[in-house]
Amino acid sequence: MGIKEHVQAVQAKIEAASLAAGRDPKEVTLCAATKVQTDDTIRAAIAAGIQVCGENRVQELTAHLEADAYAGARVHFIGHLQTNKVKQVVGKVELIHSVDSERLLRAIDAQADKLGIRQDILLEVNIAREESKGGCLPEEVPALAELAQSLGHLRLRGLMAIPPISPEPGANRPYFAAMRQLFVDIREKMSDNQTDMDCLSMGMSGDYEDAIREGATLVRVGTALFGPRPPMGAAR
Ligand SMILES: *Cc1c(COP(=O)(O)O)cnc(C)c1O
Repeated sequence: MGIKEHVQAVQAKIEAASLAAGRDPKEVTLCAATKVQTDDTIRAAIAAGIQVCGENRVQELTAHLEADAYAGARVHFIGHLQTNKVKQVVGKVELIHSVDSERLLRAIDAQADKLGIRQDILLEVNIAREESKGGCLPEEVPALAELAQSLGHLRLRGLMAIPPISPEPGANRPYFAAMRQLFVDIREKMSDNQTDMDCLSMGMSGDYEDAIREGATLVRVGTALFGPRPPMGAAR
């Protein structure tokens, strides 16, 4: 199968999982996780119907932007972001998924202020409380969400999570369900700006159908579209 067949197969599974859950498939966005892919592979994915590309590393993002490889698609930043690199990301992507600290919120807001824009962001939640992972803890979400709302150059669009890679099908459903509850709670709390909070980013190649069953509005899929990555690129 080529990229086109892979894209169609994933889109069909997204549609089936949405309908099975009683949801409108249009509520779920497919974001292609393009880490380690070449400019030409990204162009082929976009030609095959991908509308959103998610990039992990600032260096790759910058190179693909310079090569105009994302033409025809929207770009998201989905990887860990260091405060000293916000300049290379703010204003260059539609949505930053991986915001997990007060420091990062303030740095992104300051850069957006400089550019005279409002940057859309998600708060990343370490929902399984894994020691080696990014993301804030679930109990930190309300304070970070309030801070995000108080900063004039950010727009909080929702939450993101990367649960454990699990060999067992269905193992992450409780985490996805917990994220959904957190999302509903925080949206209620931020009632003034409810309409801005429309994104729950969760689910990858191994579990995106489960994530959709539990309420994901955006799934980030790499391997199922592009095939396995070389070991060097496997790390986040
Ligand atoms: C690589 C990556 C994905 C996609 O992972 P696959 O298992 O290859 O689908 C999703 N989200 C993030 C943040 C990633 O780094």
